[in-house]
Amino acid sequence: MQSANPAGLHRATVAEVHLSNLQHNVKALRSLLKPGVQLMAVVKADAYGHGALPCTQAMLDAGADTLGVGIVSEGIELREQGVQAPIQVLIGIFPDEIDELIQHNLTTTLYSRSLAETLSQRAGLLGKEAGVHVKVDTGMGRLGIAPDQLPGLVEFIAGLKNIRIESIFTHFSSADHADPGFTLKQMKCFQASLDALKKAKFDIPLAHCANSAALLQFPESQYDLVRPGIALYGALPAPGLAPVIESLTAKHREFSLIPVMQWKTRILTINSLPKGSPVSYGKKFVTQRDSRIATLPVGYADGLDRLLTHRMQVLVRGHKLPQVGTICMDMCMVDVTDCAEAQEGDEVVLFGQQGEETLTADEMATQAETIPYEILCGVGKRVPRIYLP
Ligand SMILES: *Cc1c(COP(=O)(O)O)cnc(C)c1O
Repeated sequence: MQSANPAGLHRATVAEVHLSNLQHNVKALRSLLKPGVQLMAVVKADAYGHGALPCTQAMLDAGADTLGVGIVSEGIELREQGVQAPIQVLIGIFPDEIDELIQHNLTTTLYSRSLAETLSQRAGLLGKEAGVHVKVDTGMGRLGIAPDQLPGLVEFIAGLKNIRIESIFTHFSSADHADPGFTLKQMKCFQASLDALKKAKFDIPLAHCANSAALLQFPESQYDLVRPGIALYGALPAPGLAPVIESLTAKHREFSLIPVMQWKTRILTINSLPKGSPVSYGKKFVTQRDSRIATLPVGYADGLDRLLTHRMQVLVRGHKLPQVGTICMDMCMVDVTDCAEAQEGDEVVLFGQQGEETLTADEMATQAETIPYEILCGVGKRVPRIYLP
């Protein structure tokens, strides 16, 4: 299975997506769950850059129960390809998206009375019922109703027709931090919100709060469903979680997370440049010896951040070699002087495995002063995704 770049053509620069690793990660995360807890595979942003449809199918086959998308059009795309699993639009919707939501049997996050009212009216006109997930803001300050207003909102919705509350949920701001304090505080607030609903005799099927970091660090955050994203794709929510993964592996023998994407290209050409030769825009790199400088057909228009200039390494013939000279729009350069075997056409790994060496998206994120989420989502649209079983 191969997805082409927009021109539908082959390209030397590709992102390999290893679906068996994705399925391994789904099963690994499932192995941490208490009996009966569901797993929502978060597939927003084109499955974190990996390709929503092939990844969704692979994860449903491996035991994911439901799906989380960012925006309505992502949910529609999956429905149009025949995906039948429950899909929640995580950020919520605008009133003018209601009809499409309902017609495609998607459910939405909800945090306002006005949207609930409009949803109820539109669902009635369409002769359908709209499923909603009420979000309570326990400290993220982004989306959600204040905890003290939650019972009022739930009561208001209960009085409306054609609308059904499927879950109450919240989102953590700091579950990847070493200090558990704020997450425990958010969890306490979430539990108090659920208790208040129970006391008011509202019976809501599901409660959920755990993202990847919470699932890995706080078993008590599981409730009825967990919502991992980044961990499914084999990257860390934060570098500090590496020891957490190690201790989970020590405890549950089968637990490990394997990177799903490998970003690769090939050497376009190699120049022999004498000592003292400038390389790339701005002459920021000047050869300190007679050098062989390889040019790669990948640049910032493919998602290779200019901040990586002089910070990243690549793999060629199993050796780690330094990137040199400012990263350009369509190209960048690598010093291959120390790898005499390197030749034009050789495979180059930007992150992934080659021989005995590995480079990770997590390392690239640190070098680019960002998080692996942004690295993975940022691999450009013109880089074809190649799906391997
Ligand atoms: C993106 C998202 C997740 C997944 O977060 P990860 O850190 O990638 O595990 C979970 N829940 C919500 C509401 C999200 O928006």
